[in-house]
Amino acid sequence: MNFTLNASGWIENIGHCPSPNYGQRPEGMAVDLLVIHNISLPPGEFGGKYIEDFFQNKLDSTKDPYFKTIKDLKVSAHFLIKRDGDIVQFVSVNDRAWHAGVSSFEGRDNCGDFSIGIELEGTDTIDFNEAQYQSLVKLTQTIMNSFPDITLNKITGHSDIAPGRKTDPGPHFNWNAYRERLKHAL
Ligand SMILES: [Zn+2]
Repeated sequence: MNFTLNASGWIENIGHCPSPNYGQRPEGMAVDLLVIHNISLPPGEFGGKYIEDFFQNKLDSTKDPYFKTIKDLKVSAHFLIKRDGDIVQFVSVNDRAWHAGVSSFEGRDNCGDFSIGIELEGTDTIDFNEAQYQSLVKLTQTIMNSFPDITLNKITGHSDIAPGRKTDPGPHFNWNAYRERLKHAL
């Protein structure tokens, strides 16, 4: 089954968890970059709804000491792929999700303006799993079909656009396998 990305920028047949943490893209700005991230809350623990809560500014900071350090951050991504491959969308791809922060790609700053962000539930120290790669490839194909300026060389990691500041998706993300699957799928 393929995904349907509607004119409002939402994929219809996945879970939606709208985040208030977004803004408009600059007028006339083409979307030509895909950024891969990882996140887990608390770090290194999987499952539960803490990431959804965090992106909706509803994280209960009493639940874990780490949450107190991030409770005032207002961030989001367009998509999250959970450990079981389930995909949740937080922000329309037509809008600017707050996933990139201070960043630069090929000399262009503020990558959030012209990118789509996908979070994989994970860490820098544990392999991502097959269900996640399958969902990621399918989601990437859907995005590339709607945004033809996102070519294979316009898919990057958060660590590549914010070096020294960010490390995700980390060394356990298999870029070769991801790119090979995309090449064969396209
Ligand atoms: Zn990131």
